[in-house]
Amino acid sequence: MSMTIEAIRKIYTLPFFELIVEAQKTLRENFTPNSIHLSTLLNIKMGTCPENCGYCSQSVHYASNIDPYKFLSKSEILEKAQTAKQNGATRFCLAAAWRGPTNGQIDVLSDIISDIKKMGLDSCVSLGLLKSGQAEKLKSAGLDYYNHNLNTSKDHYKNIATTHTFEDRLATIKKVQDANINLCCGGILGMGETEDDRLSMLHTLAQLPTPPKSVSINLLTPMPGTPLENEPKINLLEAARLIATARILFPNSFVRLSGGRDKLNQTEQAWCYMAGINSIHFGSEYLLTEYTALPSAESDLTFLKSLGLTPLSEKACQKRCEKEC
Ligand code: SF4
Repeated sequence: MSMTIEAIRKIYTLPFFELIVEAQKTLRENFTPNSIHLSTLLNIKMGTCPENCGYCSQSVHYASNIDPYKFLSKSEILEKAQTAKQNGATRFCLAAAWRGPTNGQIDVLSDIISDIKKMGLDSCVSLGLLKSGQAEKLKSAGLDYYNHNLNTSKDHYKNIATTHTFEDRLATIKKVQDANINLCCGGILGMGETEDDRLSMLHTLAQLPTPPKSVSINLLTPMPGTPLENEPKINLLEAARLIATARILFPNSFVRLSGGRDKLNQTEQAWCYMAGINSIHFGSEYLLTEYTALPSAESDLTFLKSLGLTPLSEKACQKRCEKEC
């Protein structure tokens, strides 16, 4: 029986500490306690994107001060993948700023994905809207994950982007899941949405035929020059509630803290781990653009160690797999 928004709200509005304890219980029942999954994200094509997502400094519609670049070469990408592996990442994700890839770009990326797999890394791509047949091609190349976030609720989506719709995003998610590729999907908090919008986004995720294997939680970094440049910083307790609710709703999924982690101090990050985060993007100079510089891999690893969190591969993190694999 699928969960209603009201049932999700009941979890979200639990007394705060009850919610956090419940989220930790869920995490420990399904994953190796004190483990963390590390993924490195590389932006392989920055800026000049024709879409108008209001949070994004890579859109051509906004005068953000980024330094765009074209598609990185295969050797540059594989070199970064090697570094990610040396740093301890077990997943390597490629993101590109465009509406969606051409079939030619899918061919080039398929070749790169199979080389990333040969390095022993899980592969992930975030390539925007897919056309028919493209997901199947990526699957044949061995792609493990496709990232495509809902970002926000269906109702709020029109306030965030108008060059594509919420339904367009759902159509790409369907293509990914129909091709049997694991889905990485979540949203961005702090884009002027209401509590109802946040819960509705989780509800849409919970309605998918298969839950996302990774749920990505991003905290908005207001980018200069974008329509959301003056949005206030999100209240961390609200973010922790949302993270804990996602953890309970998706007990077997990695819940990943992605965008905005660089703007949190270590105590704030520890609260996110306490609420149920068990995966982060780490180990690159910045997440997608210069506005989102990440801590160095070394400093992240030192901090994780101080919390007693051990980086583990996806399979080693999952308790069920510990017993069955
Ligand atoms: S979020 Fe992606 S699709 Fe939207 S403007 Fe930025 S790069 Fe383009």
